[in-house]
Order: sequence, then C-alpha cells, then structure tokens
Amino acid sequence: MSPIPDETPFARLAELTTKLEATSKRLEKRALLVAFLKSLRRDEVPPAVHLIVGRIFAESDSRALNVGWATLKKALAGTKQATLVPRPLTILEATRMFAQIAEARGPDSTRARRRLLESLLGRASEEERDVLLRNVFGEMRIGVNEGVMLEGIADAAGVDAESVRTAHMFLGDLGMVAEIALFEGAVGLRSRGLRLLAPMKPMLAEMAEDLDEVLAEHGGQTAVEFKLDGARIQIHRKGDVVRIFSRRLSDVTDSLPEIVAIAKSLPASEFLLEGEVVAINADGKPLPFQDLMRRFRRVHGIAAAQEEIPLKLYLFDLLHVDGQTLIDAPYRARWESLERLVPSEYLTARRIVTHKQEIEPFLQAALVAGHEGLMAKALDSTYSVGKRGKKWFKIKPADLLDMAIVAAEWGSGRREGWLSNYWLAVRDESTGGFQMIGKTFKGLTDAEFETMTERLRGLATSEERWGFHVRPEVVVEVAYNEIQRSPHYPSGFALRFARIVRIRDDKGPDDVDTYARLKDLYKKQFERKGRGPADL
Ligand code: AMP
Repeated sequence: MSPIPDETPFARLAELTTKLEATSKRLEKRALLVAFLKSLRRDEVPPAVHLIVGRIFAESDSRALNVGWATLKKALAGTKQATLVPRPLTILEATRMFAQIAEARGPDSTRARRRLLESLLGRASEEERDVLLRNVFGEMRIGVNEGVMLEGIADAAGVDAESVRTAHMFLGDLGMVAEIALFEGAVGLRSRGLRLLAPMKPMLAEMAEDLDEVLAEHGGQTAVEFKLDGARIQIHRKGDVVRIFSRRLSDVTDSLPEIVAIAKSLPASEFLLEGEVVAINADGKPLPFQDLMRRFRRVHGIAAAQEEIPLKLYLFDLLHVDGQTLIDAPYRARWESLERLVPSEYLTARRIVTHKQEIEPFLQAALVAGHEGLMAKALDSTYSVGKRGKKWFKIKPADLLDMAIVAAEWGSGRREGWLSNYWLAVRDESTGGFQMIGKTFKGLTDAEFETMTERLRGLATSEERWGFHVRPEVVVEVAYNEIQRSPHYPSGFALRFARIVRIRDDKGPDDVDTYARLKDLYKKQFERKGRGPADL
C-alpha cells in the first residue's frame, strides 16, 4: 500500500492565485489549474476548488461564515503573526477552520468566530492571508469564474467539458464535480444524475423572434403552454419527505405547506415535478409577482399568509417517477406521465399546434386569463438541465413604441440601393434631443423601402459612407420583444427583435415616445419577470 501523501501546504494555493492573477489568458489559466488540481490528494480537491473560486463552501451548502466587518477588523487587529510557525498551514486545515467559524453557535459565537479567525490568520504568511481574506469577502478577483474552473477540471481529468458542466448542473457543487471528474472520470460523472431531494438547475427558454421561427425550429409542430407569471418550483418527493426548491435552488418548502400537501396526495412515492406557483385573488385571477414573493419570504405566520395570499399550482413537467428518470425521455412522453400522475386541475393549459393561426388565439387566451404569454416546447426534446436553448421558446406579446428614424444605412444584397436599415430613437425630454435604442431593417415592403429611401434623402443632415443622418421627422411604430440594457448606445438601452409595424404618417417628432417612458417600461418589465433582487 502506498503511503498517504502529506497534506498540501496552503502556500501552494496562494502561489497559484498569484500566477492566475498575473495572466489574463484563459488558456494559461486553464493550464495552471490543471497542473495544480492534478497535484492534489482526493480529499483536498473540493476545498481547493472552492477556495480558488472564492466561495469556501459549495453552492448547495447553506453554511455561511457569518463574519461581519466588525469581527473581521477586530480579528485583523488581534492577529499576531507567529514568528516561529511550527508547521505550515495546509489547505485542509484552512477549510476545517473556516467550517468551525461557520458552525460556531451560541451566545458567545461572535467572539468564538473572531478567535478562530485570528488563529487562522495568525498561521498564514502575507500572501496566504490575502487569499484567506479574499475568500472571507467572497471575491477572489483572479479571473477564475465557474466557467474557467469547469474547463480546467475537464482538462485535468481528461474528460469533455460538456459532461463536467452537466454533472455540475445536477450536483450544484463545483468541488464535488472536480473530485469525481479527477478520480472517477467520465463514468463517475455520468453516474451522478438526478438526485431526489437535492435541487437541480432548471431548463430555460429563449425568447422567440416570431411564430414562424418557433414552428420551423420545432419541425412544424410544437406544444404551446400558458406562460404563467409566478415563481418556478421543483417539487421532490421521496416517501413521506417533500422538498420544494425555487428557480435559484433555495429551499422554500416551509413557506408552501399547501403545495407540500398536494405533493403528498399524489399516487406515487417518489417523483420530481416542475411547475409554477401563482398567487391569486378571490376571483382566482393571478396577483402581481410581488405578492407571491411576500408569500415566499414569509417565515412566520404561514397559516395567516395562506389565507391572505392563496396560491395556485400549475405543473408542466415530470422528471422522475417511482425509480424511473425521465430527463432523457422526450417531452411528449414526460407530459403523458405527468397527466397520469396528477389531477388535471394542476396541469398547465396546453395544446399541440402546427400553424401560427392556432397559436395566436391561444396567446390571447393566456393574456385574458392574466398570464404573461406562452411557452412553446419541442415535443421530441429531452430535458436539458440548466440550459437555455431553442427547444423551449417564450412567446410574449410584442410591445409597441413610436419612434423617430434618426439615420439610415444603405442596404446590401436584395436591399441594395435602398436606405433600408433604420436607426430608431426615442425623445429625450430633458435635452430636447433623441436617444437611439436600436436599428431595424425589418417590416417594410419593397415599395415602402423605395419611397422611404427618397423621403429620407430629403431629410438628410449629413452624408456618411454608410448612409445619412436625417432630421427626426419620420415616425414609425415599432414592435419589440424586450428592452435590454446595452452598452452599444449612449442611451444605455437596446430593443430586442425590433421591427417596423407601421409608418405613422399621422405623427410627428413631438409624438414620439419619450426616453423616460422607455426607462419606465424597462423597469416594469424587470418587475414582471421577477428577476429583481426580490427573486429567490
Ligand atoms: P423567463 O424568466 O422570462 O426567462 O421565462 C422562463 C420562466 O418562465 C421559467 O423559469 C418559469 O418560471 C416560467 N414559466 C411560466 N410558465 C411556464 C411553463 N409553462 N413552462 C416553463 N416555464 C414556465
């Protein structure tokens, strides 16, 4: 039997971070990580990986250091650098001490944490102390994010990056992924699939540009479901134990007793369901997202909250049932199993369509019922854990803004000879000028391009290599799917999928929508989506 190698000194990790900080090249960072990871003992891999990304504990680990600024300051003041260090600090020791700090409990815990921190820092050299402190602050600033680390792990283990990423989606623990990859290889990673009662990153959707794109991507047929304006949840059940996790993987079981009761009433002893909870009013109409979040955040008085803000559950996926994992089954089959497991009152409204004429009235029905839009899901697609792609599209009603054309570019190809790419702007009341928020060449007929070209030429204020700046006199009604933050324009915003719906000859520059309204719409959109800081 080979002897167990000695624990790796923490100094080696500090040395690595200095080197990582010194290069901005991703490939060099990866190479440094590879050499380092390969030199570690098995039990050192998880803690080292977490310390390198500045996290101390795994993402799925709910422990926190609980070291406030005041404690830290006192600890730094109280730290006496040991002049005679008996043994160098090791990676495992540092992690053990961090764990003790996080686990300190009781009335005297602040002092205990400070003492522990003092003794940890006291054992460290200057360079080591820097790494420890950056971890305490939760920020390494050495350019090794999760993505780079996942690539480094893949290289070090000689497995493909995709399987490392997938395992990470399931395990939610970068360190554990690294350990398995390095010591059990691709086979080990594959065997760590879905685990009941442990959260899994949900599959995500891409914004659809238009309905033709949706049908084309999904091979002429797609399933459209109501896109509910609530909070996504995954419901795990194993025997009598039920756990519910939010989209961001926090455990929200205790705030949702009525959902737990529903889960316990279903005729299977093991499952993983996905769906959306929506807060409703007395008439059963969806309430704003903020009301739902109040329910989620409630820790006390849950019974009262249950009456005040009732919830409705809509399920749309089934990923595991009684020993059978459905992640790799097509959505068509998952839905069939879902229908067999749950009463229809909990199913999300859905239909299978082949024409966009069938989608439009369903979208209207969703909006009338107070929901956000539709999701379109490819029937043959497996469940891609944690990924955003075209297998799931979100379809939202287009929003409209009246905008001025402030410049126009010459087209190429079929639009050669026409001023056909238009710069779109809203009115900035504070300056009296215009703020550009996008460009589009979509929406006009050939005949309209023709007359528009003549008209804009007449409004030119300066000629450029690419076209003209023009007086902002032509107003167009523009449909778009989303307002995004963007560094491209001084306005700070850009429209996603902008296209001209109509030329508004009845409107002039004073009728153009304002920059203030745009900012307001952006804020509302943010609230509606629930991606704000309030989101769980
Ligand atoms: P978004 O947050 O705009 O990227 O849209 C994706 C979110 O829509 C998901 O994370 C769910 O919370 C929510 N959603 C609402 N209805 C559905 C549905 N029928 N299928 C999947 N997700 C849905």
